[in-house]
Amino acid sequence: MEWYNMILVRQGITMRFLSFFLLLLTSATVLGKPLVFVSVLPQKAIVQALAGDALDVETMVGKGFNPEIYQPSPRQIARLSRAAVYVRAGMPFEQSWLPRFRNANPNMTVLDMRQGLDLIRDQDQESDPHIWTDPQLVKQHARLLAAELAKQFPGLEGQLEAGYQALANKLDALDGELQERLAPVKGKTFLVYHPAWSYFARRYHLRQLAVEAHGKEPNSRSLAALIDKARKAGIHRIIVQPQHSSATAKVLARALDAKLVEVDPLDEDIFASLRRLARVLTEAP
Ligand SMILES: [Zn+2]
Repeated sequence: MEWYNMILVRQGITMRFLSFFLLLLTSATVLGKPLVFVSVLPQKAIVQALAGDALDVETMVGKGFNPEIYQPSPRQIARLSRAAVYVRAGMPFEQSWLPRFRNANPNMTVLDMRQGLDLIRDQDQESDPHIWTDPQLVKQHARLLAAELAKQFPGLEGQLEAGYQALANKLDALDGELQERLAPVKGKTFLVYHPAWSYFARRYHLRQLAVEAHGKEPNSRSLAALIDKARKAGIHRIIVQPQHSSATAKVLARALDAKLVEVDPLDEDIFASLRRLARVLTEAP
């Protein structure tokens, strides 16, 4: 083969490779689904219920991690550069990390789950982020989120509307079921380690008593006061979750002769976790 022929053949191969890769790239852009990032797993379930599999959803705080003290990994920060939308929930880790998320991807639209909702606030006006423990709040949020996502992805408007209707029906049914189930314990107090169930308590007229506040364990004086309150309220179980250590809960359980029961408020299956708490609260001791 003459030298100029070799060059032509080589160029031919290079061109074919190049066009092959270009084709791959374009089809990835055309077929690749837009990516939505959320902070916690219950939010992932909401986005998926709305969008079906038309959107990719990734969660910052994966299963078993604690969103109060979460540190995103460098890999997650890199993934953010692909995200079209980030839906925050008001979790403590967002405070310090959201500016970095925005830096990693200035084009990403940041939505807030708390938008338009009747939030529970503490004395510092800090809002309680565990919004998904009330089916009616989830429904209100889903309505707003579907509208926001339809603005971002106009092609998905029909899907989002249908997804919202189906989710809203399921949430109404869940709410009815929980109302009925919890009616006999209306006004009763339950004791939790981490106060993740404030919205649930408000919706179903229950009182939540918590061991920990703002990520801090009680000192011995407030622990004594808590034991006193819990005794008066006839507490015989303490609700704990896998993301928090339960050393103090164990001490309390011994003092109150109560048992520890695990219910995970960060379960991706909102329906399962809410039903589980309702079952625990209505079980005979
Ligand atoms: Zn929490």
